[in-house]
Amino acid sequence: MMRLRHQAIDLQLRHTFRLARGDSDSRRVLIVEIEHDGLIGRGEAAPIARYGQDAESAARAAEAMVAQIGDPLAFEVAANRMAVAGQPAAEAAVDMALRDLAGKRFGAPLYQMMGIDTSTMPVTSFTIGMDTPEIIEQKVREAEGFEVLKVKLGSPDDRRMLETVRKITNCPIRVDANEGWTLEDALARLEWLQDLGVEFVEQPLPAGQLAEMRELKKQSPLPLMADESVGRAEDIPRLAEAFDGINIKLMKCGGLGEALRMIHVARAHGLKIMLGCMVETSMAITAAAHIAPLVDSVDLDGNLLITNDPFIGAEVKEGKLVLPSEPGLGVRDRAS
Ligand code: MG
Repeated sequence: MMRLRHQAIDLQLRHTFRLARGDSDSRRVLIVEIEHDGLIGRGEAAPIARYGQDAESAARAAEAMVAQIGDPLAFEVAANRMAVAGQPAAEAAVDMALRDLAGKRFGAPLYQMMGIDTSTMPVTSFTIGMDTPEIIEQKVREAEGFEVLKVKLGSPDDRRMLETVRKITNCPIRVDANEGWTLEDALARLEWLQDLGVEFVEQPLPAGQLAEMRELKKQSPLPLMADESVGRAEDIPRLAEAFDGINIKLMKCGGLGEALRMIHVARAHGLKIMLGCMVETSMAITAAAHIAPLVDSVDLDGNLLITNDPFIGAEVKEGKLVLPSEPGLGVRDRAS
């Protein structure tokens, strides 16, 4: 018999988040606990407002899913099979909690149960949001210790933003336009982006503009990564000619099981793979970090953008995430 508990938590952002599609100061996530046979597995949903999800709808979805799951240890496809349509963040939370529970049951860290070599962890990037030159300078200085920066663009100020960052640091820079450009904007920017040492560009055009993306890919001097254009594995084949790679996020795809399928499908299509996140606690970041050794680029900094992370899990050392060695996800409460 499984018991589900859940709790919504408001995460306070260190800096107001300025994106091409609007600003925000806090984000609400849902922590779920699945209790079975004296052990508790935990997971996190960071619902995505863009897709009509919130903590309340994620909670209802998690309840509906857990009510139908038979064997909690058969985690591989359990969450996927019981998923509620349109609620991938809840699916990710239940998948995470079942895997955490299984790890605790078998007394092994989840990465060992999944057969993942943690010695091949790529460096992770730190995100710099759009802001005034003064605040950007401050943010870049806060990012000391990270070997790669990701800069959010998508406004008329793009060039000034990136030049401000480049003046302060020589490190590799990745750019995320968050659907903020037109085809013409993108073509005009890609040249100087390359000159400023940008490694790749994430989601230059709105998600639906695949014909324009195919055109842009033909002319682009830089690799182009799909984020808003890709959710799950089934989306990948039609993106192969429009992008050079994909950004996998647990909250978009529905958890670690689907993320693994996406990695296999993307590799089969010759695509690069990055692993991203939403604003989330160390719970979901640690879950994602478990598969980071399987991808090319890692952007798992959502827990570092908040001031009230309730958990301790994977931590950045010398630019790379180091996973905890306790059973399951290895995440513990910050207070204890
Ligand atoms: Mg993105």
